[in-house]
Amino acid sequence: MLRILLVEDDDDIRAALGRALTAQGVTVAAVARGSDALGRLAEFAPDAVILDLGLPDLDGADVLAMIRSLGEVPVLVATARDDEHEIVRLLNAGADDYIVKPYSAAQVLARVRAVLRRIAPDAMQDSSVITIAELEIDPQGREVRLDGQLLTLTRKEFDLLHYLAQRPGQVVSKRDLLADVWNLPWGGGDRTVDVHVSWLRRKLGESAAKPRFLHSVRGVGVKLVDPT
Ligand code: CA
Repeated sequence: MLRILLVEDDDDIRAALGRALTAQGVTVAAVARGSDALGRLAEFAPDAVILDLGLPDLDGADVLAMIRSLGEVPVLVATARDDEHEIVRLLNAGADDYIVKPYSAAQVLARVRAVLRRIAPDAMQDSSVITIAELEIDPQGREVRLDGQLLTLTRKEFDLLHYLAQRPGQVVSKRDLLADVWNLPWGGGDRTVDVHVSWLRRKLGESAAKPRFLHSVRGVGVKLVDPT
């Protein structure tokens, strides 16, 4: 049975959504304050968290950061405002998806299931270690080794590298990367992919001018190749 932690300070929304989700067969734990979310997260061990951004005690981004510091549970941020800047900021900060209020329980559930489908199959099906030359990517431990040395990657850097490593030699467009790794729509001028590719390059000890694993294909996208 699906377990969802609902962090929402509005009593009416919390009660209504809790009831509606329960009616759909979901086990729901609900808290009204950001500061209560972390304790519940640990003891309830939800499959996903619905996090209201407008909480009275803590900023949504801070709650998200605290949840992220504890683990990889999917987080859907809920906002009353269709504030693209804020949503993009939170997606970049590790939120898995967002919902704009008012939303129905059916919509929340559909979004949660979509996120879990996106994340869980990865964890279950593609859990084998990928080795490309001296690069080793372990999706289960979320560890990357280069020449046997453990690299410290951020969550998105790891996701990006793993995504490319599952498609060696194949050019992946920035549009696809934004959609599949960040769950973001393509805006045209977005630098998110470029910036992360550049960070990843640095950690792999290479540069755009002297690529080894990561090759940019101008105007198309990026590919990961076996340099040997
Ligand atoms: Ca609120």
